[in-house]
Amino acid sequence: MNAGHNAAPLPPGMQSHFDTVVARNPGEREFHQAVYEVMQSLAPVEEARPEYSQWSILKRICEPERQIIFRVPWVADDGEVQINRGFRVEFNSALGPYKGGLRFHPSVNLSIIKFLGFEQVFKNALTGMPIGGGKGGSDFDPKGRSDAEIMRFCQSFMTELYRHIGEYTDVPAGDIGVGGREIGYLFGQYKRITNRYEAGVLSGKGLTWGGSLVRTEATGYGTVFFAQSMLKEKGQDFGGKKVVVSGSGNVAIYAVEKLHQLGATVIAVSDSNGYVVDEAGIDVELLKDIKEVRRERLTAYVDARGGNARHVTDGSIWDVPCDVALPCATQNELEEIHAKQLVANGVQLVAEGANMPCTPAAVALFQSAGVAYAPGKASNAGGVATSALEMQQNASRDSWEFDETEEKLEEIMTHIHERCLTTAEEFGDPGNYVTGANLAGYLKVADAMVSMGVI
Ligand code: GLU
Repeated sequence: MNAGHNAAPLPPGMQSHFDTVVARNPGEREFHQAVYEVMQSLAPVEEARPEYSQWSILKRICEPERQIIFRVPWVADDGEVQINRGFRVEFNSALGPYKGGLRFHPSVNLSIIKFLGFEQVFKNALTGMPIGGGKGGSDFDPKGRSDAEIMRFCQSFMTELYRHIGEYTDVPAGDIGVGGREIGYLFGQYKRITNRYEAGVLSGKGLTWGGSLVRTEATGYGTVFFAQSMLKEKGQDFGGKKVVVSGSGNVAIYAVEKLHQLGATVIAVSDSNGYVVDEAGIDVELLKDIKEVRRERLTAYVDARGGNARHVTDGSIWDVPCDVALPCATQNELEEIHAKQLVANGVQLVAEGANMPCTPAAVALFQSAGVAYAPGKASNAGGVATSALEMQQNASRDSWEFDETEEKLEEIMTHIHERCLTTAEEFGDPGNYVTGANLAGYLKVADAMVSMGVI
């Protein structure tokens, strides 16, 4: 059993562990893929730390500590009763309370939430902050829903979720389909049910009610800071680089903004209906207005922008030639065929802003072609790291300035980049960000689990 066509083979000793995960979690393709991706890097650790197998760390780390699935009933504007499914997978709390976003998207199922939760465990460890890993969400589709419907859905969702979360237990935040508006409705309902103003129970809050400056920008900015460190490693910077950023949600928008600040030109972004090419550089203020305020499709960008901007519905955004590619849309959006095209067009660097956007075969191809590639659990960790900064501010009833918070974010991303490289080097795979991210994250969580005994 392999986790994707043409993925690199697992090292000796790992295959039986992987087969067990597949047998215990049948049909959960994305979860298998995320586990496979980590197991690919683990052989040297199992040798260097014999106590891990003695304490069954790998088996325990692949089993979520708790998985909650619940019914979410709500009433649509037309009076029809709707039933969605809610999830919260509390994956690992060795380093701190479970921490990770909520995703509202029709594709959400247990496999998706488990893959995201699994990734989150190692990502959160890499940030150096005291946070465990979890993820949640619903198969609710916010597209085309009124504000009142979104509110009623969020209230119903929280009416069950509230009993499972807390500042010291589990701290959800946003992900696809969950932004400031949804966090507001969720927090309001939590506050109402519990009669407690516990700001630290959720992150990604509004700035007047416990939120942190830079949290909105953090995932996109952080991905660009990470990519900047990768370029620096090659003696380069973003000046004059052509960049393609897939997606047009929170991560993509703020990646574009930071890229332009650093002298790059972003020439394409996408949504689920197609992509926009704008050789003059994507107008980020227009993009924000369309996606964050008007909540419209990208076709509206071309209508408003005119000039040479064009909307394309056939092919893929990865056909657009670029120096740097930042996949910031969703899992498995960049397949082997796209990687081939990018390599043929001369791409030099790929850093993931989304979670697991590149398939295993695409990653293998980038690596064999010598393209610098960073996995999301390292390069997109800036969002959750800034959530942890929000938790710090909530705990001390303080709020920090924008510049100070952004500096902390940049420092954290530089530090993650450094840890990836030193760990990869230490374990005999210099320059490999996948090895570095997986091992640095895994070691931290595993060591804590060893210390705490069999729980
Ligand atoms: N959903 C984001 C992620 O994938 C952020 C989670 C958080 O801030 O807790 O890391």
